[in-house]
Amino acid sequence: MGEPCIICVAITGSVPTKASNPAVPITVSEQIASTHEAFEAGAAIAHCHVRDDEGKPTSDPERFVQLKEGIEKHCPGMIIQFSTGGRSGAGSARGGMLPLRPDMASLAVGSNNFPTRVYENPPDLVDWLASEMVKYDVKPEIEAFDLSHILQAKAMWDRGQIADRPYVQFVMGVKNAMPVDRDVFDFYIRTVHRLFGPDAPWCAAGIGANQIVLNDWAIAEGGHARTGLEDNVRLDKNSLAPSNAALVRRTVEICDKHERPVATWQQARAILGLRIPD
Ligand SMILES: [Zn+2]
Repeated sequence: MGEPCIICVAITGSVPTKASNPAVPITVSEQIASTHEAFEAGAAIAHCHVRDDEGKPTSDPERFVQLKEGIEKHCPGMIIQFSTGGRSGAGSARGGMLPLRPDMASLAVGSNNFPTRVYENPPDLVDWLASEMVKYDVKPEIEAFDLSHILQAKAMWDRGQIADRPYVQFVMGVKNAMPVDRDVFDFYIRTVHRLFGPDAPWCAAGIGANQIVLNDWAIAEGGHARTGLEDNVRLDKNSLAPSNAALVRRTVEICDKHERPVATWQQARAILGLRIPD
């Protein structure tokens, strides 16, 4: 058997709605129930956004408090990762929840295009978000929408702006950003190993129908995998995913195919250098 594979479930995101799939958890109580089911199915990381009363993305720290408390209660040990992504707020509001000290938070270190706009991550905001993560002992997950973002993470680590060896997630298949491209994917892996060491963990996420493609590539190559309704609401061309857990189970099957055990939350914390909660 290979090394354990960490499965991250991105439960909600900023974009999907009940209209795109009724299983998308929107309220905090729906999010907790959906995360619990995904945890039982094998997910060790919950990547979290929150929504307001109208279902729109928000960075409201109060919502994050409720969600964090619920996940800690119902999924003890699960790694909680908050999004500081750009759709949920502008400027420093994107990091307003970091004082809650989640285990991890996503960190975009450069700008790129999104389907209908620029995903703006100006240097001063990136530097500030990184400094808040150092201050509150939050491990960043570097969202690499482009090759330059991996090298930027290295530069920030060298400058002490990132505390530990960067943990990079390759994001492929966002419209108008990096497409799903096997040669680029392989080069990403080589770059991570060259910059951060041959044993540096990394993960990958694919959008839409490419979620399963990136799961397969990452699991086969020794990386970690992200699934969940944030990135993809369908099981296949003809059917909606009935739950986040169903997408996690699909990823577990790919782990089985490639003889990778699914990482427990304890193994995931050890791989990522995270503390074991009391
Ligand atoms: Zn997200």
